[in-house]
Amino acid sequence: MARATVYEDVESERERLTSMAQRIWETPELGLQEEESAQVLIDRLMEEEFDVEVGLGGMPTAFKASYGSGDPTVGILGEYDALPDLSQKVTAEHDPVEQGGPGHGCGHNLFGVAGVGGAIGVKRAIERGDIDGTIEFYGCPAEETLVGKVFMARDGVFDGLDAAITWHPSTLSTPTLDRSLALDSIQFTFDGVSAHAAAAPESGRSALDAVELLNTGVEYMREHISEKARVHYVITDGGDAPNVVPAKATVWYYVRAPTRSEVEQISDWLTDIADGAATMTQTDVNRRFITGCWDFLPNRTVTDVIWETMQEVGEVGYSDDDRTFAGKLKETVSDERIEASLEDVPEEYAAEIRDANLYDVPVPPHAEGDVGGGSTDVGDVSWITPTGQFRAATWAVGTPGHTWQATAANGDFGKQGAVYAAKVLGGTAYTLIENPSIVAEANEEFDAETGEQSYETPLPPETEPPFDNTAP
Ligand SMILES: [Zn+2]
Repeated sequence: MARATVYEDVESERERLTSMAQRIWETPELGLQEEESAQVLIDRLMEEEFDVEVGLGGMPTAFKASYGSGDPTVGILGEYDALPDLSQKVTAEHDPVEQGGPGHGCGHNLFGVAGVGGAIGVKRAIERGDIDGTIEFYGCPAEETLVGKVFMARDGVFDGLDAAITWHPSTLSTPTLDRSLALDSIQFTFDGVSAHAAAAPESGRSALDAVELLNTGVEYMREHISEKARVHYVITDGGDAPNVVPAKATVWYYVRAPTRSEVEQISDWLTDIADGAATMTQTDVNRRFITGCWDFLPNRTVTDVIWETMQEVGEVGYSDDDRTFAGKLKETVSDERIEASLEDVPEEYAAEIRDANLYDVPVPPHAEGDVGGGSTDVGDVSWITPTGQFRAATWAVGTPGHTWQATAANGDFGKQGAVYAAKVLGGTAYTLIENPSIVAEANEEFDAETGEQSYETPLPPETEPPFDNTAP
């Protein structure tokens, strides 16, 4: 089968891909600051004669690379941002490379690299004339802060795609059919009047009082929103000293729900409560919309191709050493967390996975229609073009994302998992480009699923990428 040539071409890139993943792991950069990480990917794509466009959506670290011409046009999405405070050496005890420094605790050092590997595999097939069409790689910054794809989508970056595919590092290799929550990220800053809190309280107006009343109001709103909705906040500025009436206070909210329209209803209510809190405290309120994203709409047709490809590629093929190190990492994860990671896994697999340190046998798609607790800006792309996702086994069994254990794995055996993911991405894109009828079917399914609801940016006009806001 000609698709096998893609796997061979990706295999021939193994050393280069793992060293790129290592370089990005060693240079963890937070969202919108990923200059060096993006450059590692851009350099490789340019060597392969992709047309590269850098600086999309107003973000210097967002880019798109294309090879080939005509349709079908298939896009592979990649990410490369790190997380704050997840610096960690490749060892099975918590030991940061840099105390408090950033680290690749979500495996995005593998994520973009695998996408580039897959795109190169497909490029070779187009170059040989095995298939006709266009392969594109999208360098998407700042996923952890739910920014990159949202600002790219607002500028129409994904509009020419016939289908998109992506993946995420994980504990299992399995296609993703569960949905994610749409989200709004909004900050409210109140302006009051400072005064001596004991000597002249009557001349002060407390911005912190307003924040507290807003938060209290939200607790009453919570009673009347749907069970799946989530509203959470942190006070990022609550004043400086008890004897000074705080003239400024800021609270930062995430609003999440299964649909974009529900998120917008809750955000409007939240804004009304903030206005009410300002009235009650005789302060002024300023609302800053940081970002927002859509829920993830999985495309079954694209996912079927992913699953077929995953079975064909088989297992990652981890070594005994990889499995031994994974075993040491697994020992640091509690039994409850391991059980929680197996919650929705088919029972016939769960028992085997529980006993393994690293489980790289592909697990069939499951949890279709379930709504997970997280959010991703892949959601925005999934409402623009038929989108399929999978997870690949790069972490020890039970390892949660955003942990030092994940950072350790991503700097070690996880890199082999990225090569597996590159083959699955490449094989899937190859099949889609080779079979315009599958792409047409995916688009019919997309039209039926989206119906009247077409993509609109969650961003209010004039919203700029939040370069000052790097923490997720
Ligand atoms: Zn991630």
